[in-house]
Amino acid sequence: MRTPLIAGNWKLFKTLAEATALINELAPLVNDVKDVEIVVAPVFTAISTVVSAAGKTAVRVAAQDCYWEDEGAFTGEVSPKLLKDVGCSHVIIGHSERRQYFGETDDTVNRKTKAAIRTGLTVLLCVGESLAQRESNDTFKVIEAQLRGGLADIPAAELPHIVIAYEPVWAIGTGKTASDTQAQEVHAFIRALVAQIYSPSEADAVRILYGGSVKPENINGLMSQPDIDGALVGGASLKAESFAGIIRFKG
Ligand code: PEP
Repeated sequence: MRTPLIAGNWKLFKTLAEATALINELAPLVNDVKDVEIVVAPVFTAISTVVSAAGKTAVRVAAQDCYWEDEGAFTGEVSPKLLKDVGCSHVIIGHSERRQYFGETDDTVNRKTKAAIRTGLTVLLCVGESLAQRESNDTFKVIEAQLRGGLADIPAAELPHIVIAYEPVWAIGTGKTASDTQAQEVHAFIRALVAQIYSPSEADAVRILYGGSVKPENINGLMSQPDIDGALVGGASLKAESFAGIIRFKG
């Protein structure tokens, strides 16, 4: 059985006071939820504050990116070692905004993923096609290249430390969600690909999240699909009530 995981990507939002307020509001709304992993990803500057605010609640903390070296002359970067040190348990790698605006490639995604796993973080590894790629029927080709590139040389034993997030770029922040069937189709493809790269048992165990305009209103349909194991949520994770509504998808 795969434990559902609901992760909130706060992107470049929330001051320290706002971040603390959000955790304080969220925690009591979800404290009785069993068997759903809850993760939030604040900006780097708020991680320490959010780790403290989350305290003994079920909320775990992720970073939105990391570098692949532990330390050195790499101005502006943050290493997995430091993320672990500040209390992160997860890190998002390869988000489409980083691929689009900050030159992230499958190779850098792969380096970062290896470094994060080596440090003991769980990676939320993002893949997804653009609208143009979908319209030219390249979705599977793009997802396969991103996944093979991101997972290159990562042994099967490390796969439990990776959660794959399928996020069609055209659905992120646009209000357009992939239909349940569109999402399931790609999730099934990803699981089959993991079976091919690793083995059917690894594919069975790996969690695949959907991301792209997830809201309390559409989470149930998505979660009822056999290969959708949770969600990576942007906009709707910025408010306690809507994020809690997604986390409480079981009712
Ligand atoms: C995201 O940032 O990963 C995301 C899916 O955003 P949104 O839910 O706002 O589409």
